[in-house]
Amino acid sequence: MRSERPCILVSNDDGVDAAGIKALQRELASIGNIKVVAPDRERSAASHSLTLQVPIRAYRLSENIISVDGTPTDCIMLAIKNLLEVKPDLVVSGINRGANMGDDITYSGTVAAAMEATLLGTPAIAISLDRGDNNDYDYTAAARIAREVSLAVLKRGLPDGILLNVNVPSLPSEAIRGVKITRLGKQVYEDLIIEQTDPRGKPYYWIGGQQETWSIEPNTDYTAVADGFVSITPIHLDLTDYRTFAILEGWELDSIAEAARGRTERQGENA
Ligand code: MN
Repeated sequence: MRSERPCILVSNDDGVDAAGIKALQRELASIGNIKVVAPDRERSAASHSLTLQVPIRAYRLSENIISVDGTPTDCIMLAIKNLLEVKPDLVVSGINRGANMGDDITYSGTVAAAMEATLLGTPAIAISLDRGDNNDYDYTAAARIAREVSLAVLKRGLPDGILLNVNVPSLPSEAIRGVKITRLGKQVYEDLIIEQTDPRGKPYYWIGGQQETWSIEPNTDYTAVADGFVSITPIHLDLTDYRTFAILEGWELDSIAEAARGRTERQGENA
């Protein structure tokens, strides 16, 4: 058992003032010393982007809360490399306003913050709350789940290069049916982009029109949350697909380099 309280770095992509990060900070304070380093405004769908073209500023809002005018990834990198006096024992990103499931995790700033922590060798959890029936968000149950999952990770650790992506249904704690280990689901986007005409007659586009529909498959994050369970998906940062090695080996890839060499020679002749 640890003698000292663990240091937990908390971030998100909804911004430092979002209700979800405040609920998370309050609840995790019972198990560790909480340091919040989060974007100064909403950066949802920022993905794993890093700010390279402009300087980044950090503002200390209180002893344990710093806002950064950058992306969630910037926040984690800055926090771990510069801003925190001690290396955190755990990074928790969220609680995101809205689920982060299936393919959506590749756009998610919430998950990206956890990815960055994982790349820097710190165990990390991303946690998101599904939207309620009336477009409402009550973070109470999700914050309690975050606390319990955090305790488990602090106690047991995570394999190298793995983060946990947690999605919580929009239910009171007592109505949550349990926890399921899941895989990423699949969704079918319909009318994702709305095209309209501006007052000057030029077209413009708005991404995110219609609500997506999910394919109902067993053991996915979506199905678990729809059934009232907390979903925990272990995410591997090695995106290599080892099964496809055999397929690509059948492509006679030597001929690709050969054909490219042939072109170079011919272009040389033409010059
Ligand atoms: Mn968000």
